[in-house]
Amino acid sequence: MDANLLDITSLHVSVGDKEIIKGIDLTIKKGEVHVLFGPNGSGKSTLLGAIMQLPGYTITQGSIQIHGNDTQELSTDAVANLGVGLSFQHPPKIKGVTLSRFLKSINRCDDLDHAITALNMEPFLERELNVGFSGGELKRAEILKLYAQNPDLLLIDEPESGVDIENITIISNTINAMLQKESPMKTRSHSALIITHTGHILNTIHADVGHVFMDGKIICSGNPMDILDDIRKDGFSGCIRCIQREKDKK
Ligand code: ADP
Ligand code: MG
Repeated sequence: MDANLLDITSLHVSVGDKEIIKGIDLTIKKGEVHVLFGPNGSGKSTLLGAIMQLPGYTITQGSIQIHGNDTQELSTDAVANLGVGLSFQHPPKIKGVTLSRFLKSINRCDDLDHAITALNMEPFLERELNVGFSGGELKRAEILKLYAQNPDLLLIDEPESGVDIENITIISNTINAMLQKESPMKTRSHSALIITHTGHILNTIHADVGHVFMDGKIICSGNPMDILDDIRKDGFSGCIRCIQREKDKK
């Protein structure tokens, strides 16, 4: 039997002396898309950083497994080599490295030109990576980076923040294309964990499970559209209904 793509058990993560993630469990299977909602500062980006083993995030308890491999002792490179890629909320600017050179160094796919065209990134190829890019350009460049890496598990941090509606559609269509790569029947071959504030991407991307993250914990999980509806109506306190729905199912 296939191991789960991502298995997080009783995870606690600290940044410096401060505990940010306070005990979460999360499983993502092959082909599943999960979305994460939650207020600013609740620890969503920290969770993605911890999964990637980025420096500065200390796992104090619990475990993260990718394809059944414990990542506790692994470097960020090694986690990426297990098939995980991260699209940053705030991507770094790298002076002196052009987007095209960067893509060449990380490319693992054979149809990158297709994604460059779909994301309208030709004019940016000879620019320094992310330097002077607008909000929408930064996010398109991040999605192009993921496309080149072709990971099994896409970690995508706020793909719509600061992006106009037309570009949100372009980005969402490319994420869908990545999720269906190498799948002749156009079924989901890849998985994703996507952080969204607005839920706009859910107009294009079908998500299987939604989670609400508050103060370092997942307080409820369920149908992403129902959760989004609750949040739109009553803010994050609307999640009380989500918790109740899940209780009723049991
Ligand atoms: P979210 O993505 O949900 O908005 P973050 O994961 O970015 O939240 O941040 C969660 C909390 O961790 C915030 O209070 C933030 O200030 C804190 N934090 C994140 N990175 C650092 C850091 N390098 N040093 C100190 N605090 C940090
Ligand atoms: Mg964040």
